[in-house]
Amino acid sequence: MNVSVVLFTADLRLHDHPPLRAACEAQAVVPLFVRDEGVTATGFAAPNRLAFLADCLRDLDSGLRERGGRLIVRSGDVVDEVCKVVAETDADEVHMAGDVSAYAHLRERRLRRALEAEGRRLHVHETVTTAVTPGAVTPASSDHFAVFTPYFRQWAQTQLRDTLAAPRTVRVPDGVGSEELPTRSGLSGLSEGLATGGEAEGRRRLAAWLRDGVAAYEDRHDDMAGDATSRLSPHLHFGTLSPVELVNRARKVAGPGAEAFVRQVAWRDFHRQVLAARPAAATADYRTKHDRWRSERTAREDVEAWKEGRTGYPVIDAAMRQLRHEGWMHNRSRLLTASFLCKTLYVDWRVGARYFLELLVDGDIANNQLNWQWMAGTGTDTRPNRVLNPITQAKRYDPDGAYVRRWVPELAGVDGPSVHEPWKLQGLDRAALDGYPDPVVELSEGLARFKRARARD
Ligand SMILES: Cc1cc2nc3c(=O)[nH]c(=O)nc-3n(C[C@H](O)[C@H](O)[C@H](O)COP(=O)(O)OP(=O)(O)OC[C@H]3O[C@@H](n4cnc5c(N)ncnc54)[C@H](O)[C@@H]3O)c2cc1C
Repeated sequence: MNVSVVLFTADLRLHDHPPLRAACEAQAVVPLFVRDEGVTATGFAAPNRLAFLADCLRDLDSGLRERGGRLIVRSGDVVDEVCKVVAETDADEVHMAGDVSAYAHLRERRLRRALEAEGRRLHVHETVTTAVTPGAVTPASSDHFAVFTPYFRQWAQTQLRDTLAAPRTVRVPDGVGSEELPTRSGLSGLSEGLATGGEAEGRRRLAAWLRDGVAAYEDRHDDMAGDATSRLSPHLHFGTLSPVELVNRARKVAGPGAEAFVRQVAWRDFHRQVLAARPAAATADYRTKHDRWRSERTAREDVEAWKEGRTGYPVIDAAMRQLRHEGWMHNRSRLLTASFLCKTLYVDWRVGARYFLELLVDGDIANNQLNWQWMAGTGTDTRPNRVLNPITQAKRYDPDGAYVRRWVPELAGVDGPSVHEPWKLQGLDRAALDGYPDPVVELSEGLARFKRARARD
């Protein structure tokens, strides 16, 4: 009997899964997930993502059981564990998805070497975690695009492969040992409003989004209180949804909403092709501006106020409290809080990126680090010195103040847009603010500091 192993990583699904489909060509398949101690050692395994991951693994296991199989879970060094399973089952080949981080590249190289030493083959499949393969579209003079618009032009013309169906049956060889599936219980520090993981939940959300949400996306995606984006980001991060399937299905819906949505999904591929070509951008400036940022230590009080949602700027505080409560934030909120930390408070983007990764359920090296760099002006933004004014932005994207009132209870009694500038309230109205703080810094002061810093260039 010939056996293949499929190693699941950030692709925890059965639908549209090229490595699984290829592995199913063998007479038997070992669907394997390794709780990789290397990931734990990097500190990347934050409680919110571990909880979502536990949901995903449980759901993957039940999907496999419906098809006659089951999920095999092991813990340890990913290369050692795969090699052990290969030896136990005498498998000929291992199939897995390509990925973009320096860690993923190293994992792939080590695994290939170890398997080849044993006379086995590793097959790495592309278009599993991205719609378009990183590096498949490039400008004439470079190995990657540094600007989104020309990237998107080529990306949009790239023919995507057809969506693959889930396999009908998965036959797992007898006697392969598995650990218990991880559970949410025992995890502490979870966000109260954390989303549920798993492919079934991802597919349900996607169907509902394409039916009821996407048509209005172009008009409503920046409406902070309306919550009118897909919230599919954790499913894309864990791969419970396939980006190829997502784009294929959105394109079938068509119209301006679907087009704007597909364009946003292309941003995800864009950042992935940057990181694949420049893995150091996870921690180092992509295009340095020679900033001498304030560190977490030197700006301790400001950073604490930012993290706790007590900066005195209501829209910033609402956003940071949403992050803590849900492990997720609206895109406009992420832009505003990142601009505020890097540009108004002039704190190192890595401080903010690290804090986001502690909480975000969709926390993702490519998307998080490169969006932070975009907003810090050290990344791919063609206007690196832009500063988002939290008051003007709040009045535009939360015109009635409903987003702020939802997340900042101290301000729940303030009507209308005046909630965005509580320091202007007088007398009893001001006294009723229940301890809500004054601004940590004047916007004009923050702006002047940032301009001085960047004028050094
Ligand atoms: C400072 C900062 C940090 C961020 N960190 C992350 C992160 O860790 N993980 C993450 O998935 N996204 C991150 N984003 C991008 C974006 O904010 C989220 O993807 C989006 O808010 C998720 O909500 P949604 O699924 O409802 O998005 P929708 O608006 O419905 O968009 C659909 C999908 O497109 C992709 N997408 C949307 N906007 C972007 C973008 N700007 N860059 C890349 N992909 C995008 C996401 O996969 C998203 O799920 C960050 C943005 C900023 C400014």
